[in-house]
Amino acid sequence: MNHMSVPEKLSINKYELDDGHPHIEVHTEICNTICKTKACLFVCPANVYSEQEGKIVADWAGCLECGTCRAACPTDALQWEYPRGGFGVIYRYG
Ligand code: SF4
Repeated sequence: MNHMSVPEKLSINKYELDDGHPHIEVHTEICNTICKTKACLFVCPANVYSEQEGKIVADWAGCLECGTCRAACPTDALQWEYPRGGFGVIYRYG
């Protein structure tokens, strides 16, 4: 177990999905008008964000709840909160 790489350690996380309640919402109208950096595409360690057909999309199910995107977004375009109790990432190692 000690010789596992970071991706290997992350791969054994468990996620309890709260399907009706995404904990991240992207206000794409802000991204598309005033955001120049699209920092979320580069800072997320779980690659939650992608740009699809000109819109920033958050695949929030794989979120590690680190909060990096929230801090990095220069335009407050992300509505981010922790998942409700009992949901979200469950770390199994590290
Ligand atoms: Fe990615 Fe961390 Fe933001 Fe989750 S909180 S989307 S893992 S940067």
